[in-house]
Amino acid sequence: MESVSTFRALTELIPGGVNSPFRAFGQVGGAPPILVRGRGSRVWDLEGREYLDLVCGWGPLLMGHCHPRIVQAVQEAAAEGTLFGASTTWELDLARRVTEAFPSIEMVRFVNSGAEAVQSALRVARSATGRPRILKFEGCYHGHVECLDAAGLEAEQAGGPLALGASPGAAAETLVARFNDLESVSHLLASHPDEVAAVLVEPVTGSMGVIPPKPGFLEGLRELCDQEGVLLIFDEVLTGFRVARGGAQERYGVRADLTCLGKALSGGLPMGGYGGRADLMRRVAPTGPVYQAGTYCGNPVSVRAAVAAMDLAAAPGVYDDLEALASRLVAGLSLIPGLLVQNVGSMFSLGFGPERLEDHRDAERLQTRTFAVFFHEMLARGVYLPPSTFDAACLATVHTAEEVDRVIQAATEAAQVALERTPGPAAGI
Ligand SMILES: *Cc1c(COP(=O)(O)O)cnc(C)c1O
Repeated sequence: MESVSTFRALTELIPGGVNSPFRAFGQVGGAPPILVRGRGSRVWDLEGREYLDLVCGWGPLLMGHCHPRIVQAVQEAAAEGTLFGASTTWELDLARRVTEAFPSIEMVRFVNSGAEAVQSALRVARSATGRPRILKFEGCYHGHVECLDAAGLEAEQAGGPLALGASPGAAAETLVARFNDLESVSHLLASHPDEVAAVLVEPVTGSMGVIPPKPGFLEGLRELCDQEGVLLIFDEVLTGFRVARGGAQERYGVRADLTCLGKALSGGLPMGGYGGRADLMRRVAPTGPVYQAGTYCGNPVSVRAAVAAMDLAAAPGVYDDLEALASRLVAGLSLIPGLLVQNVGSMFSLGFGPERLEDHRDAERLQTRTFAVFFHEMLARGVYLPPSTFDAACLATVHTAEEVDRVIQAATEAAQVALERTPGPAAGI
């Protein structure tokens, strides 16, 4: 068991053996396979076992592993210079593609991660409105951003912001509303008049199960924000270039003032971006007072990979094909007794317990013990899912109908085992 001993060695040098916590299999138990190679829809571990990959790098790999166009872009960038610390033509290529895909993005700034994009967008919002507070939603994930981590579920579970190491002051500026509940938003806005700079939302959630916005929810947020002089920020780090080329904004027809991007933007290289109305983005240094900078921001490797990823995403039929593949998968999975499946396009989540998920209270009832058994049964059948019932699994353009059918077959067997082994009211979170 090379994977097991390698993971044990890793845990002695890297906290939990991982460089990002959920990879550690905390929710499902056991040692994670150590992966050595990916290609298309598959990954392989140290022992040479092959898995059908539904993690897709936790979202970015819309085109699967090692798409030849992306590999070529990275190789060319590596051969011609990985970093100049100066502007390049590829940044122009990429900015044009992003602003074309997202009509609400008139100007964009590229950073290195989704979390950086969110943190920077919040600064722009505070600066533009002269207001201190951010309203977010319980269970929505935005990366490790101080003022967001410090408020809500994570902080509560950890015993407060200080337990997390976050500043209690950061928590104080964050208001937490309920997803899919406009009432909770208007109440918070009314009780903090002229204090809220922005409403920040994942238009489709990806870390408390995949939860679509109820009809009217995003439109209602847009209206409330306009009434109260609050900016609307869509965190489309996961949904951008995934639920549609133009993200949830295209899918639901609601325009954000600022949008955060990452993940599928660059097809598997580190990158994030934030953008929106030109008057807001001109507030960013050097044209404006909002400081945001970074040595690797807009580096040629990530940018050239992103240009390739954008061109692949713009090819005709990409999203129709993904949608059809997702429909086939969800139709099959929905027939499995006891298994809850929710999706928006190619992002989906699997769980046991609730009939459906509409907000974090439903998600709290997801049966993690049952999911843990299900997860390992799937892994044993060669299907690699996110090791958490809360996190979105993803399809890529390289998955085939035949592979989807294999997943359905594996899930049918795995769900039966999981429900048999964890009878009765199993423990929640
Ligand atoms: C993954 C994610 C982030 C954080 O992105 P990183 O690149 O991991 O920093 C932020 N928001 C959403 C919605 C995400 O899914």
